[in-house]
Amino acid sequence: MITATALHGCSLIDGTWIPGTNGEITGFDPRTNARLEPSYSLASSAQLRKATTAAKRAFQSYRLTSPELRADFLNSIADNIDALTEEIVQRASLETGLTPARLTGEVARTSNQLRLFATTVKSGEFHRVRIERGPRVDLRQRHIPLGPVAVFGASNFPLAFSTAGGDTASALAAGCPVVFKAHNAHPGTAELVGQAVLGAVEKHGLDAGVFNLVYGRGVEIGQELAADPAIQAIGFTGSRQGGLALMHTAFNRPVPVPVFAEMSATNPVFVFPGALADLESSTSLAAAFTASITGSSGQLCTKPGLVFVPRGVAGDAFVQLVASEFAGTTGQTMLTKGIAEAWQRGVDNLEKQPGVGIRAHGKPGAGENAPGPVVFESDIQTLLNNAVLQEEIFGAASLIVRYDSPEQLHEAALVLEGQLTATIHSSQDDFGEVTQLIPLLEDLAGRILFGGWPTGVEVGHAVIHGGPFPATSNAQSTSVGTLAIERFMRPISYQSFPAELLPDPVSDPNKWAVPREIDR
Ligand code: NAP
Repeated sequence: MITATALHGCSLIDGTWIPGTNGEITGFDPRTNARLEPSYSLASSAQLRKATTAAKRAFQSYRLTSPELRADFLNSIADNIDALTEEIVQRASLETGLTPARLTGEVARTSNQLRLFATTVKSGEFHRVRIERGPRVDLRQRHIPLGPVAVFGASNFPLAFSTAGGDTASALAAGCPVVFKAHNAHPGTAELVGQAVLGAVEKHGLDAGVFNLVYGRGVEIGQELAADPAIQAIGFTGSRQGGLALMHTAFNRPVPVPVFAEMSATNPVFVFPGALADLESSTSLAAAFTASITGSSGQLCTKPGLVFVPRGVAGDAFVQLVASEFAGTTGQTMLTKGIAEAWQRGVDNLEKQPGVGIRAHGKPGAGENAPGPVVFESDIQTLLNNAVLQEEIFGAASLIVRYDSPEQLHEAALVLEGQLTATIHSSQDDFGEVTQLIPLLEDLAGRILFGGWPTGVEVGHAVIHGGPFPATSNAQSTSVGTLAIERFMRPISYQSFPAELLPDPVSDPNKWAVPREIDR
């Protein structure tokens, strides 16, 4: 376990906190827009290269670590993060305006995620070993780590999708060193977590290049990092614009590399008439919908931004209940001034679209950057004819779309962009129509929910937090849950190898006791 040291205000490169020579930034308290100390010096191109070179060197030893050592390392990071909970929560709340309660939960989620990857590393399943001993040749297949991974975290999860969040944890679990581009909206939080990772690197005597934390602007150092020849894959969570810029750079390198970017979604919810059959169900649905939009100030990639509600008396009553709920809400501080301004631009833009109206809004909260939540109403024809209605508004806003027939839901599902989630609310009476919609939702989203709201994401073995573009850049995996490890590995096959030259996971003694498919 470690204790926090005073913040260094600079990058962690090859095991040392090194003052940057490329200007500086500070964090801001979004409640007041006041600058926060200390300032953070930004890494130069040469300093970035030191970090990527160290990561490349570290790969050669880290990729060979035993399951026990790698799992112990991940568990130590988790223990260190837990030990710093108080400092992390305090700093993160200052830098993001998120509540201590929410952040305490996020710390636990982050360390539990690391522990889950530790268990996965020990189980050995991710090596995906297949052995075929004949009849003509002996072939042995396994998955190996890709090499150093560049990770970019999001503003809205300063822990679970940041410095030692899912992308970093899954890359380290796979056997890949990480160069993390610190998020400029929570620099101090990033450093505290960086201290936790460094403590674990030192405790286990790993090569210091296994984890580097680099401060700089995304459009400068972030782009250089994505273009660096040492980097073999990129993990990203954030805006569509940022993800697309990284994809462009990564695919246009002399040697292109894969990008796993989680970007943009409106997470449609399909409410069938059966879900609104009585006042009690409609009332609780309206309350739960409002809570899912306003929690964390709506700054969740899984926030339901489009809700399809049937026309008719029951639908009207539901919309009225939602309007009453929204009218009683109060805005919470958003993550940054820039994000609050982007929310306002999105709301203004949607409001001026023909056929769209504001149905209700809450009151602004205290302090800066806390606008009142907004719910809009429109109809399905307007949605089908105007792509602006599909644009994500990051923050507490949502659009209710009224429809006349289940066939119109099919039309909508066919024109919607790729999504992280799609949610169905129905009773058994609707199952005929729901059955027909499901294949369309399978093509649309990474996770389909029956009932509930998509904002909570379980961290486990069967979850998918992914989906077709633009929800992510690659729908073949997930950024949450243990499957995420496979993004940073590739298959390799050994043909006719002498027993003594075979690597551990595919050799006959099976020293690592990994699950294997043999001669099936
Ligand atoms: P972001 O702006 O995309 O930033 C994520 C990370 O990527 C940051 O470290 C950022 O660097 C870096 N980055 C941004 N653009 C880049 C580029 N062109 N090249 C290389 N790196 C780049 O995402 P965010 O901070 O989470 O959210 C900010 C905006 O994105 C908000 O206005 C919000 O409306 C929108 N958005 C976010 C999400 C989400 O889930 N987080 C979802 C939808 C929309 P810097 O530190 O220099 O910024």
